[in-house]
Amino acid sequence: MIAILRKSASDEAVKHLVSWIEGKGLQAHVSHGENEIVIGLVGETEKIDPFLLESMDIVERVQRVSEPFKKANRKFHPEDTVVDCGHGIKIGGGHFQVIAGPCSVEGKNLIDIARRVKAAGATMLRGGAFKPRTSPYAYQGMGASGLDCLREAADELDMPIVTEIMDPRDVQLFLDKRIDVMQIGARNAQNFPLLKEVGKTDVPVLLKRGMSGTVDELLMAAEYIMSEGNDNVILCERGIRTFETRTRNTFDLNAVPVLHYLSHLPVVADPSHATGYRRYVEPMALAACAAGADGLEIEVHDCPERAWSDGAQSLTPEQFEQTMDRIRAIRAVIVSNHE
Ligand code: PEP
Ligand code: MN
Repeated sequence: MIAILRKSASDEAVKHLVSWIEGKGLQAHVSHGENEIVIGLVGETEKIDPFLLESMDIVERVQRVSEPFKKANRKFHPEDTVVDCGHGIKIGGGHFQVIAGPCSVEGKNLIDIARRVKAAGATMLRGGAFKPRTSPYAYQGMGASGLDCLREAADELDMPIVTEIMDPRDVQLFLDKRIDVMQIGARNAQNFPLLKEVGKTDVPVLLKRGMSGTVDELLMAAEYIMSEGNDNVILCERGIRTFETRTRNTFDLNAVPVLHYLSHLPVVADPSHATGYRRYVEPMALAACAAGADGLEIEVHDCPERAWSDGAQSLTPEQFEQTMDRIRAIRAVIVSNHE
């Protein structure tokens, strides 16, 4: 971290600031330039609030030299992380996976949807048993029995399950039900107690970007999980809230290469929540593939108009089959270009 001071700063004020920095356990290296005085802060700079430093009268501006995320940072871990999701399925570092299934687990139809998506080429099964709904009066999910439906379907098809956890108190339940990947949804992207609790397990976590979350906030959320010891984090871009109203969210495709540049963690894209309309899911799924996503999460329902949630953005199994064909075509181009 570097603090650039006002030219007019008195020697006494600079000395005072240096001892304030040293008092935080850091070293302060002062250099006097022709037009400004610069202090280089060395040590555990996370202990310093950059805004507090910048608020001091003699400080003109503060610049971070290194990012606050360490474990998720590619600088300290140059190779891509490959996350093992169980059932022989790996994601990241050239392993590409498609997670598909209904928004909500609804019971009996799950196995039919699971069979269809698997036959079309999906490698992981999704479905929400605990649903984060904007309205408390909307359907809230089947709860624990929904996890059983998922486990049953996924065991029959030998697929890993991806399902959302909303409450830190449910971690043991998810472990007991042998959930392969715990999803943390956009609405819980900064639920720090939840992030810490899943961080204490070694179960892979699909961490979605908050709807108003920056890339750095997503990486700091990953850091919360990793700092507790769980390195099995998969990042997910699922659209952010902007001024645009023609789609449910705005798919930030930039985030895919940006996350790859900044972090070694696998990056999945979710064109279903990003667009909100079935007609836009396929083009944006293909675009995300072309942008280098390590995987896609796509909502599929056997009868979208009867879906208990997110029917508008759910593909029919037939549409999913066609989308998968096109995904394979895009992947073939990307993979051959990298060889
Ligand atoms: C979901 O995957 O069904 C979901 C609720 O996603 P998000 O958290 O991205 O809105
Ligand atoms: Mn959904």
